[in-house]
Amino acid sequence: MESSAPAQPTAKKRILTGDRPTGKLHLGHYVGSMENRLRLQDEYECFFIIADLHTLTTKPEREFIAALGDNIHEMVLDYLAAGIDPQKSAIFLQSGVIETYELNLLFEMLVTVARLERIPSLKDMARAANLEESMPYGLLGYPVLQAADILLPRAHLVPVGKDNESHIEVTREIARRFNNLYGEVFPIPDVLIGDVPSLIGTDGQAKMSKSLNNAIFLSDDENAVNQKVRGMFTDPNRVRADIPGRVEGNPVFIYHDAFNPNTAEVDDLKERYLKGAVGDVEVKRKLATAINNFLAPIREKRAYYEAHPGMVDDIIADGTARARVEAAKTMALVRDAMGMYRIPERV
Ligand code: ATP
Ligand code: MG
Repeated sequence: MESSAPAQPTAKKRILTGDRPTGKLHLGHYVGSMENRLRLQDEYECFFIIADLHTLTTKPEREFIAALGDNIHEMVLDYLAAGIDPQKSAIFLQSGVIETYELNLLFEMLVTVARLERIPSLKDMARAANLEESMPYGLLGYPVLQAADILLPRAHLVPVGKDNESHIEVTREIARRFNNLYGEVFPIPDVLIGDVPSLIGTDGQAKMSKSLNNAIFLSDDENAVNQKVRGMFTDPNRVRADIPGRVEGNPVFIYHDAFNPNTAEVDDLKERYLKGAVGDVEVKRKLATAINNFLAPIREKRAYYEAHPGMVDDIIADGTARARVEAAKTMALVRDAMGMYRIPERV
């Protein structure tokens, strides 16, 4: 019987991005990368990596490895709660895709030590981990491992926060170098920075970070949000409500802009703040309400998945299997392109 071939669907472009499983996700992760992931979930074929190997670059000790399981669960709960759809997108475990180790090693030949040493964020990470004087080889190679993650599914787009931009540049260089040496295997992936490239923490001092005690987590309950917002840093010169205040760079207004959809309310608060006609209490109360409204559906979804604990592991297992299929295809292309000697099969 003659069958007409089905119309070939145009292949979607791919996204790869992810997070290290070091704890729960916070609002900084959301605006830096999650928002773009959710927006592009239909347009792109998405691979979201749980980058457990990357945590070893600063914390290789057993006690930290032992904590990864819980962190992985919390993080995937956050993904699902935020709206990542595991039917559409693969959520996968980096260490479960063994091709990662292979491509990482091949990529190590395509970048210089001097190039990696020039990346400022790596120095920051080493300093934060007290490893400045004893930089592990693997930490220096952090962006090389990222290149392996991104290029294994041959991704076109990488939605990340600003702090990762210089790392993705290394991926682009490695992809170009590989293609020049061996032939066109990899797309040169673009970076996509979130609407708020680097969200400041509630302390107003540094970017929101789970290690700095300045984060509002996606899983925080109403009370926690109210308390954290009440304690937020605002304009330090404004000791009374009738003193005109600064709106620009003021964390409470940065958050209002990011999380309060009622722009008329935000404009009104800003106007009165500039004139010294509104108290911090009102600005913060309205902000807490906005953040709680924003988090309400996320909390509801999280509760559902928390009540079905087996689902998370199934989702990771399925996602990892999908990622491995693509990784195997890429490695076949890579080995072919490189023309590595292969031991002939014995007959
Ligand atoms: P933390 O700083 O809380 O420890 P992290 O740096 O360990 O988080 P990563 O896994 O390195 O988290 O980053 C996950 C993603 O979230 C990256 O794309 C990163 O750029 C983004 N990101 C993290 N913090 C922020 C922030 N405060 N504002 C915007 N994007 C952020
Ligand atoms: Mg980071």
